[in-house]
Amino acid sequence: ESVNLTALLQDCVRAFSVTYDRDIQLFSTENKLEGRVDREKINQVFYILIDNACKYSQDEVHVYTDSSEGYIQVKVQDFGEGIPEADVERIFDRFYRVDKARSRDNGGTGLGLSIAKHIVESHNGIITVDTELGNGTAFTVKLPKS
Ligand code: ATP
Repeated sequence: ESVNLTALLQDCVRAFSVTYDRDIQLFSTENKLEGRVDREKINQVFYILIDNACKYSQDEVHVYTDSSEGYIQVKVQDFGEGIPEADVERIFDRFYRVDKARSRDNGGTGLGLSIAKHIVESHNGIITVDTELGNGTAFTVKLPKS
């Protein structure tokens, strides 16, 4: 299915901004980024990443799209607490949560990122994380164009 990922992100960003009363900004190089993806599943990936960015930060959230040779890239950047180095490699594991006591207040299950990774990889894409304790976290999803 050919999906306009920019439009999908716009809807997702708008829904979160309104529902959680948060400042989420979408920066897109192109206003139409077509990808051959499962719309519902990729929407779920965007939902999980933006939801996490809102849960684990207080400030604005930035979403960037870009396309390079062969790939479409979506980055969700927050300016929140970041993830300790010792935990980073485990956050994509099922049920893994950093600092159980603190994150329990957020009522998550620790499943979101494992689902996101599964979906991205089933599209032959990759998901990576770049984080700095106290400064924020960016998740990048790269999906093949064809
Ligand atoms: P849910 O399944 O409801 O999303 P969750 O947020 O705990 O619950 P994951 O999305 O899998 O589960 O995230 C795993 C853990 O990674 C989180 O508990 C949190 O500690 C950490 N994490 C995820 N995203 C961020 C982020 N943007 N900033 C800081 N920590 C994060």
